[in-house]
This record gives sequence, C-alpha cells and structure tokens, in this order.
Amino acid sequence: MRWDDLAGMETQRGQLVAAVQSNRMGHAHILTGPAGSGKKLFATMVARSFLCEREASDTLSSCGECPSCKQVEAGTHPDCQTWVKPEEDKEFKIDFMRQLIESSQLKAAGGRGKVFIIEPADAFNEESSNCFLKTLEEPPPGMWIALLCENSENLLPTIRSRCQTLRFTPLPAIQIERILEANGVTDQVSRKEIARLSEGIPGLAMTLSNPAQRKFWQECGSLVLSYPFSGTDWSDMIKGSIEEITGGPAQRAHVRSILKLHMGMWADLHRLVHGLEPRTQPESLVERMEKCAGRLDQRKIASVAEATMIADDRLKWGALVSLAIEAMGDSLEDQFRPAQT
Ligand SMILES: [Zn+2]
Repeated sequence: MRWDDLAGMETQRGQLVAAVQSNRMGHAHILTGPAGSGKKLFATMVARSFLCEREASDTLSSCGECPSCKQVEAGTHPDCQTWVKPEEDKEFKIDFMRQLIESSQLKAAGGRGKVFIIEPADAFNEESSNCFLKTLEEPPPGMWIALLCENSENLLPTIRSRCQTLRFTPLPAIQIERILEANGVTDQVSRKEIARLSEGIPGLAMTLSNPAQRKFWQECGSLVLSYPFSGTDWSDMIKGSIEEITGGPAQRAHVRSILKLHMGMWADLHRLVHGLEPRTQPESLVERMEKCAGRLDQRKIASVAEATMIADDRLKWGALVSLAIEAMGDSLEDQFRPAQT
C-alpha cells in the first residue's frame, strides 16, 4: 500500500506533514468520520512512516518494504498496537483501558517511537476517559496516539481539547471511481453504479466491488420494492447472509453496510415521493421504485428511517447482530402488515 493508492486522503496527510515539518505535531489525533471512510488505513500509513527503517518520517513517507513496514501492515509490529474494544463489551471498560495504559508505558522495542491506534474512541465511558486523560497529558516520549471514531462529539470535551482532529468526509464520486479502477473494477458502468450507491464512502465502495456482495444488496433492494413488503422476510434474508461470515466484527460490518445501502434506497424513495430524481440507486430500478413510492407516504418512510437508524446504532454499540436485525424486521413488519379486515 502506498499513499498514491489512497485517493482522497491528501488533505489529512497534508495537515500532518505541515505539523511535523513545523514541529507542531501533536502526540494525539482524533480521526473522525463514517465507518468505511479510511481512518484505520490512514492511521496505519502514518504508523508505517514513523516506524519505517529507511525513510525519514517528516514527509510521512515509508518504503513499504523494510521489516518494520511489513510488520506494521501485518499488524505484528510490537511498537504499533491496535486496541479495539472487545466485541462482547458495549463500552471501552476501565480494566481494558488500564491494560492499554500499562502497555503504553513500556519502552518502545525498536527505539523509533510508538503508535497506538484505538477504536472506537467514542465508546470510552466516563471512567475510562478520565483514566486515559493522564496519558494524553503526559504521553510517553515518541508516542503517537490515533483515536478513531465515527462521531467525535461523543468524546468528552476534556479528551477532545487535548487532541488535534482529522476529519474524514465522503469523497466525490469521481474519486470513488478512481479507487475502484485502481482496485481492478474494469467495467465503467459498474464503477459509476458503485460510486453512486456508496455515497462517497470508499470502504463501502470496496465492499460493493465484490460481485457477491453487490448481488446480495441487489436482492435486498429488490425485496424492499416488492409488494407487500415484509419486514420479517427482509430480516430473515439478512440473518441468512451472516451465517456465512465468520466473526462478530465482520458480521457487524457487513450488516452495517447493508443498513447504509438500505438508508440510501429509502432516501431515494423519499425523493421520488416528492417528485425528485433518485440520487443513489441505478437507473434500472427507477421504474420499480416509482411504483413503490406511489404506495408510500411520509409517515411510513420516516418510520423505516427511524428503525434503520436504531438498528445501526445498536450494532455500533455492540448489540448482538441477529437480535438487532430481528428487532428492526419486527418493527418494519408492524408498519407494513396489511390491515386486518
Ligand atoms: Zn519501511
């Protein structure tokens, strides 16, 4: 992986390079942006440049070939540690935080410095936030901390005020198309379609570049447009798809991607109800979407959006994947069940 392959991160990189070169580089940054916006990739590239054995870190370059670069990329470098909230916990608990802090105080193995990537930092509870403050105030020498989160507003002001912030916002469609091309999506029509669907989120675009994933979303979308729509069928379809995915975090990411696409579909149905053009869905679906929109009203659309946001929030904060989806399916089923006579 090289910076050139990471389209759309020039601004954030530029900010850090300017800070390093003017000796204003903070020891901790909050990297904030939606899931799939490339925060982890960015933090890993920065870690690689700090720990690279061949290149000077003042331009945040790294060779990508030395043992250190390879270890960072493989996640095995002793001085680049990633601390992810355990899957079974809803919050970043104090005991976990204490382990993290203890480890931060150990001397760097390679003598080049140390990088801690922590996520999701917006899952810190008050106790763990307060415990972490001391590390932010007096970090071990040569340490860089990357706090990854989807919404920095969820962090305590005392944490925010001790960090610099790098924002990761959705990219223009043309940039998403370039990323897809660089990653082997040769068909231009597919690139355009994926760029629209992913709404500027590179991680989601990459997920959709997998034909099986795209086909699955098309089936989900098609079910939404069927009449009568069944929330139970919809949740059964999603639950069926997670059986093939190993590991809670991967299942969670898969379902959250589907929910994001689902929201895009409903936002377009909402636009159609108001006589506007769809923004994310492909041309081929418009006719079916118009029919579906003809059966909808504002209230139903709002209730679907609410159920989707609740499910996504539950998933973000560690609820069991199947339970979150079932609850959403039940809520949709209630909304769309034909009236009993
Ligand atoms: Zn290197």
